[in-house]
Amino acid sequence: MTDTRITPAGLRRMLLAAADKIVREESNLNALDAALGDGDHGITMRLGFEAVKKRIGELAPDTTFETLLRESGLAFMGATGGAIGVILAKMLMSGASSLRGISEMGTPEFKTMMAAMESAIAQAGKAKPGDKTILDAVHAAVSSVDVRQDISEALSQAACAAARAAEETANMICRVGRASKLGDRSLGHPDPGAVSFSIILQAFAEVSS
Ligand SMILES: [Mg+2]
Repeated sequence: MTDTRITPAGLRRMLLAAADKIVREESNLNALDAALGDGDHGITMRLGFEAVKKRIGELAPDTTFETLLRESGLAFMGATGGAIGVILAKMLMSGASSLRGISEMGTPEFKTMMAAMESAIAQAGKAKPGDKTILDAVHAAVSSVDVRQDISEALSQAACAAARAAEETANMICRVGRASKLGDRSLGHPDPGAVSFSIILQAFAEVSS
């Protein structure tokens, strides 16, 4: 595809597809988290995305990018607890602010949104790339995007970069959060948050292709 741009209706479909994919992955995500933490990451993500899906369903068809993402963030925050709930919510809400006044998303706007999400996560999680967190996947996705690319190409490239980065977190040692107490024992297990983010982008890419 060339010259495609995502509309707010398109982003709505992408968020709904991400919600469905995350719900399907619940037990896998719980299993990944069980290796590093308390095994509830899949539950948290499912609760958050079920709330997102419900809230999105209540919004008018012409709802803007900003409102879709802000309301998704608020819904996620309201339905979940723990660090990852806050991080995902802040990520969605900073994405919302970055798209204020924008009615169509091409690759430059997508990159801007993802970069805003990355800084929100870095702040909320006090993490940097290499700390074995969701940030590793987000950072890789942002870096992979060339603003000259078509949006559907940028999305699938970002999804691949995030998936690769999520896999690579298995070779890292946790430096922030509860799993940092595991030290070397976190080796060999990917960060569940990074895996979740790559699943979300995969769903986005599938909808837009
Ligand atoms: Mg957990």
